[in-house]
Amino acid sequence: MFKEFNVSTEDRYQLIDITEKAEEIVKESGVKNGLVFIFVPHSTASIILTENEEGLKKDWLEIFKKLTSGIDFQHNKIDDNADSHILSGLAGQGKILPIKDSRTVRGTWQQIFLVEFDGPRTRKIIVKIVEG
Ligand code: ZN
Repeated sequence: MFKEFNVSTEDRYQLIDITEKAEEIVKESGVKNGLVFIFVPHSTASIILTENEEGLKKDWLEIFKKLTSGIDFQHNKIDDNADSHILSGLAGQGKILPIKDSRTVRGTWQQIFLVEFDGPRTRKIIVKIVEG
């Protein structure tokens, strides 16, 4: 099963919890046991697992800014978003999760987040589900 959905982002850097939507798609697929691959087909966004807590979300944004500040990026000569590409690659563009009893297997504090690094934009998210 293959499904796509869009998420509109509002800020240049932003964390958006997509857990509910992902769980809904897993449930609708009818797959009880298997794997789900959640992928963002963009080179300036990521998918991460983290706790949905306001302070922690700000902490992520702070570390992302610090990781790429003070660097004279070559890519910025042609397109002013080298930081966005680098952070997207570092944080990763997809996650694979097990499915058990029609739900993703996650730790209590592992919510699924889209991370925007070059917003605001409309981001496509791909959900691929494999039974087994
Ligand atoms: Zn670029």
